[in-house]
Amino acid sequence: MQVQSLGDKILNGDRRALARAITLVESTRPDHRAQASDLLEYLADSNRQAMRIGLSGTPGVGKSTFIEAFGMFLTAQGLRVAVLAVDPSSTRSGGSILGDKTRMDRLSRDPNAFIRPSPSRSHLGGVTRRTREAIALCEAAGFDVVLIETVGVGQSETVVSEMSDLFLLLLAPAGGDELQGVKRGIMEMADLILVNKADGDLKPAATRTCADYAGALRLLRKRPQDPEGYPKAMMVSAIQEHGLTEAWTEIQTLTRWRRENGHWDSRRRDQAVYWFEEEVRQGLLARLRQSPAREAMDGLRQAVASGQDTPDRAAKRMLDDYLGG
Ligand code: GDP
Repeated sequence: MQVQSLGDKILNGDRRALARAITLVESTRPDHRAQASDLLEYLADSNRQAMRIGLSGTPGVGKSTFIEAFGMFLTAQGLRVAVLAVDPSSTRSGGSILGDKTRMDRLSRDPNAFIRPSPSRSHLGGVTRRTREAIALCEAAGFDVVLIETVGVGQSETVVSEMSDLFLLLLAPAGGDELQGVKRGIMEMADLILVNKADGDLKPAATRTCADYAGALRLLRKRPQDPEGYPKAMMVSAIQEHGLTEAWTEIQTLTRWRRENGHWDSRRRDQAVYWFEEEVRQGLLARLRQSPAREAMDGLRQAVASGQDTPDRAAKRMLDDYLGG
């Protein structure tokens, strides 16, 4: 397939072309990488921007249920919604938490939605680049909202927040010392905490959990990118589709404020720089792992492992030898 004709179909919002292009960016074959890179360059001129919303939560908290309900709510307003997943678990166990069950059945049949499960057999670095490129493809295809979903495992929340305009944390109601379950760093990333399952018997627990988090958020240092009163904690019920309008209103309020105050653009600029540096870091490591540096690297790794050399000294020697000291 010619890059240009694939690109034109994507610009026309063709979902099958979009799916094919994402398969292309996921491929590690050098000729595919070259085509993917040409395609992204061809599409970059379109300058289309979606609202990129990151969403995280541990398994079982209701991410798929929420994304389906929220996605349907958005498409009902005439918006086009894409859902991507960053699932580091697929790298470790070989099985994907986010991908292997039939998820979001109704949303997947909605002509204004596009859902792409996480690729398997890839390390987080690979998934990360593929997701960033998939976001760019979805934007070129004219999607208004791109939801990037992840489970709270390892680095994945940081990665997703670094590619999102807004970051939502989905929690389930719990009794007792619930707060200890969420790391401070993740709280600090969140723009909106959504306590899900605020329905039926769980409603009182959800109310308490929400109040606890609202209190905890007030104790965090105020961030320059937030107007007064943010980040917020609120309750939703994905199953009963309650709180979706309110959540969307908060997202829009925050978005408008950040756009008007320059924080929207500056966040994207900072993220571009972050990913540039990340690519340099990954690229350097990948090249150092090729011969002849590979042998030196293996030797130094063993020296560090056996305590013959310190990590700092070995790293400095490696860099001096290959970059000039
Ligand atoms: P995920 O693993 O985070 O994607 O969670 P799922 O969306 O698969 O939901 C896990 C379980 O929680 C399922 O049994 C859902 O039916 C249930 N669930 C999800 N949202 C709600 C909700 O709003 N209220 C209640 N009561 N249960 C929910």
